[in-house]
Amino acid sequence: MRTRTAPVIVSVAGRWYFFHLTNVMTLSMDAGLIYEYLERISHLLRANARRADSDGMLQPVQLEALHYLSRCNAYSNTPAAVTDYLGLTKGTVSQTLRVLESNGYVEKQADEKDGRVVHLLLTRKGRGLVESAIPPKNLRLGVDDLPPPMQEQLGTALYQLLGAIQRSNQLKSFGVCRTCRYNASLGQDSFRCELTGATLTPSDVTRICREHAGRDGG
Ligand code: SF4
Repeated sequence: MRTRTAPVIVSVAGRWYFFHLTNVMTLSMDAGLIYEYLERISHLLRANARRADSDGMLQPVQLEALHYLSRCNAYSNTPAAVTDYLGLTKGTVSQTLRVLESNGYVEKQADEKDGRVVHLLLTRKGRGLVESAIPPKNLRLGVDDLPPPMQEQLGTALYQLLGAIQRSNQLKSFGVCRTCRYNASLGQDSFRCELTGATLTPSDVTRICREHAGRDGG
């Protein structure tokens, strides 16, 4: 048991109030309980997301790969980057990508400079599926049901937990470009990647990247 500041959210006459109590005695939440919550939430979200797939063809991992490809930048849409991101074996990811391609969700494109490198691009069908499935409807309804301060607090806590897991296991961050330490602002709506020297557009900096490095070194 330890002493710390605790956020408190209460509802009075239909309005939400948010404040901090200091020196509250709290129990540390153990990893087992957090795992149980996350596992149950993941299961509910995956089940709901799959309902958006009218063909009923895709497995959760295939939808995850499709979602990643819809969010990543041009350095990160290769089979090797998908393998790193999903943390699965090369064979499993190859099979996953084959299913997505044969069902018309992604198409391959050779790299303009190096013909040995293949990029995976979402087709209109793939993009449509991601837009209808993610975020799943049950998550949107659940989040809307929480008071705004709690939504923000939850987002921050999950972001920090993700970062802590990645740091303590030496995993790549796969973060959003605008938060990368190599991202240099060149002024109005113009950015440069100091790792590759490429100029980045405002749209590029909203995408996730396999080379991302946190500003704190993570
Ligand atoms: S600035 Fe960082 S995240 Fe953005 S493209 Fe360069 S390496 Fe990737």
